[in-house]
Amino acid sequence: MEHARAERIAERRRDVLAQLADIERDLVELRHLREGLSDDDEHDPDGVSLSSEWSRLEGLKRAQLDALVAIDEAAARLERGEDALCSVCGRPIGLERLEARPQATTCIDCAR
Ligand SMILES: [Zn+2]
Repeated sequence: MEHARAERIAERRRDVLAQLADIERDLVELRHLREGLSDDDEHDPDGVSLSSEWSRLEGLKRAQLDALVAIDEAAARLERGEDALCSVCGRPIGLERLEARPQATTCIDCAR
């Protein structure tokens, strides 16, 4: 069981890192596109959509970085043999939930 949890955590971590790499690649591409636009790009419809795409990607990146922190905390907790407790009600977070979402910080009831 413990081992399965550690495996799930490692798997989630890989997923998140892969997604971060994708987002990073899109951001680099977007930066090149923006540099190719004229100075006037605020009045350029393309400039506006690039900006909103940029904020969307930045938001995604932040969410993935948060997930990464939570995953690392979950891994550290597992190593110490501690139960993950819900940050809202303080009860243990169910194992099934942790296997599906190792970075969960609330129990399933509080997450609803
Ligand atoms: Zn709870």
